[in-house]
Amino acid sequence: MSTCKPVIIIGAGLAGLAAAYELGEEVLILETREEIGGVARTFSHRGFKYDLGPHVLYFRNQQIKEFVSDILDGEWIKQERRARIVIAGETIDYPVQEGFMRSTALKERYLTEILKASGQRGNTFEETARNLYGEGLAKDFFIPYNKKLWQHPLDEMNNEMMADYLPSFPKDDLRLLVQGKPPGRGANACFFYPTQGGIGTLTRKLAENQRYEVKLSTEVATVNFRERWVETADDSRYRYSHLISTIPLPELVRISFSPECRFTVGNLKSVGMVFVHLALTHPLNNDSHWVYYPQPDVIFHRISIPGNYTNNMTPDSKGSLVAEVSFPSDTAPNIDSITIRVTEDVVKLRIIENPRDIIDTDTKVIRYAYVFPSTQSLELRKELLSKYAHKGIILAGRYALWEYGNMESAIAQGLKAAKHIKETGS
Ligand SMILES: Cc1cc2nc3c(=O)[nH]c(=O)nc-3n(C[C@H](O)[C@H](O)[C@H](O)COP(=O)(O)OP(=O)(O)OC[C@H]3O[C@@H](n4cnc5c(N)ncnc54)[C@H](O)[C@@H]3O)c2cc1C
Repeated sequence: MSTCKPVIIIGAGLAGLAAAYELGEEVLILETREEIGGVARTFSHRGFKYDLGPHVLYFRNQQIKEFVSDILDGEWIKQERRARIVIAGETIDYPVQEGFMRSTALKERYLTEILKASGQRGNTFEETARNLYGEGLAKDFFIPYNKKLWQHPLDEMNNEMMADYLPSFPKDDLRLLVQGKPPGRGANACFFYPTQGGIGTLTRKLAENQRYEVKLSTEVATVNFRERWVETADDSRYRYSHLISTIPLPELVRISFSPECRFTVGNLKSVGMVFVHLALTHPLNNDSHWVYYPQPDVIFHRISIPGNYTNNMTPDSKGSLVAEVSFPSDTAPNIDSITIRVTEDVVKLRIIENPRDIIDTDTKVIRYAYVFPSTQSLELRKELLSKYAHKGIILAGRYALWEYGNMESAIAQGLKAAKHIKETGS
């Protein structure tokens, strides 16, 4: 059977839903999962709700902020970020560059070294970390944390992109540190979060009362850009006038190019993420929104505490946490052993006192969570984006554009894709 729809959008995450919202009726969204929302979903499990790690809203673009505020009907709360880092046996405020100043022991340990550090960027990640932050902070935080998160050799990271993960210490901040004054609370010190229902409320409301069609549990298996149709795993074929893809770039290559071309996608490196949700008998004695753990002998790099975002995320008098464990996207994580390690490590770190405090566990896995910015990957990305532009396929969203984008940018890219189609006409 062949159905004709003017615009097809692959993927019902924030980018796809924003594009469909802007385009309206004449749209068909094809989504492989059984529900909308993509990475920005909220899961419910036995009365507990949780997002895939911290998922909070920051804005640089006033128009997108107003758009999201309208979608949520103003039902969101602004919160001061409470993010912490456990380092060298102490819990300090994020970001580490200023948080350590509030601890006498850590200040003594790190400040002299920072002041002695050359401040020059080096040839490798580790060298740069030491040059910018001194031996102590490099060894206790930047190197182990990034090794654990990225799961790929850090020296493969592109030098320019490295600046995002190893920012230079601004001279003014250093001056303040020497005077014993922490420089401030870093970027994104406040965020917005839906009043009810977790971050998934945003995607749910974005799709509410819309007149376009969404086909769930429908995986797009082939894209033929010459004849302008897509075919789904159940062999249905849909013709399109315009195609917006929001699916991960390697997946699009796999379903749209010849086998020779598919070989290259191994160079598009990324990490996937296992999210382990622990439902607890009582709330944690910890008011953090999220906490980073750089220690190599702890399996997760971060936990988040849903009940500290809004109090409707956990049943009364109960608690919960979500631990994040990353793995290279081209490997298969062992979920059972990861879950066991998470439960052992939360006790070892005394995040919970007793394994009996855990009522239940639940896990979710995403194969693409963070794009690893190797030089090879960035070059291939550029080549592929240009190829798809020539084929007339519009890419929108964090994984389609293969970058480190946030929810704001996914929405902005979806809206932009739709406006482009409206302007160029069907
Ligand atoms: C751990 C983590 C924490 C984050 N925290 C924040 C945060 O605090 N603040 C922030 O602003 N951003 C955060 N982000 C980023 C944010 O989640 C993303 O930028 C945004 O959700 C991406 O939306 P998207 O539509 O581009 O992609 P996705 O949400 O991945 O949507 C793509 C959709 O395509 C579907 N799909 C894939 N393949 C196919 C196929 N073959 N056929 C049909 N459908 C398919 C998928 O199922 C998915 O629904 C975080 C991301 C991660 C991983």
